[in-house]
Amino acid sequence: MSHDEPSKSMPQTKLVIRNIGLLFSGDLANPILDADTVIAVGDRIAAVGKEKDIDTSGATITIDAKGTALAPGLIDSHVHPVCGDWTPRQNQLGWIDSYLHGGVTAMISAGEVHTPGRPKDIVGLKAMAIFAQRAFHAFRPGGVKIYAGAPVLEHGMVEDDFKELAAAGVKILGEVGLGSVKDGKTAHQMVSWARKYGIQSTIHTGGPSIPGSSLIDKDMVLETDADVIGHVNGGHTALPDDQITALCERSTRALEIVHNGNERAGLLALRTAMELKQLDRVILGTDSPAGSGVQPLGIVRMISMLSSLGGIPAEMAICLATGNTAKMRKLDCGLIAPGREASFVLMDKAQHSAGKNLLDSIQKGDLPGIGMVIIDGAVSVQRSRNTPPATAVPVVVK
Ligand SMILES: [Zn+2]
Repeated sequence: MSHDEPSKSMPQTKLVIRNIGLLFSGDLANPILDADTVIAVGDRIAAVGKEKDIDTSGATITIDAKGTALAPGLIDSHVHPVCGDWTPRQNQLGWIDSYLHGGVTAMISAGEVHTPGRPKDIVGLKAMAIFAQRAFHAFRPGGVKIYAGAPVLEHGMVEDDFKELAAAGVKILGEVGLGSVKDGKTAHQMVSWARKYGIQSTIHTGGPSIPGSSLIDKDMVLETDADVIGHVNGGHTALPDDQITALCERSTRALEIVHNGNERAGLLALRTAMELKQLDRVILGTDSPAGSGVQPLGIVRMISMLSSLGGIPAEMAICLATGNTAKMRKLDCGLIAPGREASFVLMDKAQHSAGKNLLDSIQKGDLPGIGMVIIDGAVSVQRSRNTPPATAVPVVVK
């Protein structure tokens, strides 16, 4: 279905999804809802409950979930888009559409750093950020929302630059440390200016990702005090364990665990956050496209990895990729509740998984099979072309 037109210009639709077997809220405080039906009017959730208790009349689209599970659309907190649905890093087309088939309905740029010839002068980097914000706001492959336009800090930027960027619609910074600013004092000053004008910041953590980037250790992360401790498990090279635990303990900022990082370090960060009873700080990303390619299933792989090896129940692992990220990133998706964005992923146990149901299969390390993805109340894809096939798949009945 086309998502080229903004939903405002579309006729108001009423979507009824019934016969949901398991309803993931995205909220860590109450990850499974006692409900079997979700109703969306236009691009917003209108009601959630038992079918007998809510008004399902007048539906323009009815979906029989066939007893499968429904979760908020997954959010990838860390991507590196460039332009359109092309990444020059591995020279692939259609990568965003492929992530949609991995259940991702929203992604956040950590900098359009793979742009060939990326400008490093201040006028140029501001122009590129504004261009990327505009272009990705207007261009949504399969309906996926790409929050981009994330300038990388360079020496010489002054407070007025952040004010100007904010006024132009820029809301996020690219990873601190990927540009010429590599000292905590300057980074802290610039991140503070950004915050003053409502621009959120993320810092690269760990060793260099590719030739040309550099080490950011715990002292620089703590001194900079960005809103998100980007890939706390390294991207790829992790900091020593004692530095990772120190970041968990001494900062209150978001702890981002990425697919393109060190998995053992990711499990350490998860465990430390759980011990601190601060699981609400943990958010998930892929940190892709990158040297290790694109990962259409990166977020579901993170959910299964953290759940199977990190000992976190699957329904809570899903919250890390939905409600937690939405809260941290100030997005109105990520939770199943009236008023929130009507973006969903429907999934079931993969065929022939040894798990006895979807939750058990994820906790055994298998990926879920995705049967449908819905964005803004409209069906974007039916059975995923990328996940293992789901045992049962939802059907559009009207
Ligand atoms: Zn990075």
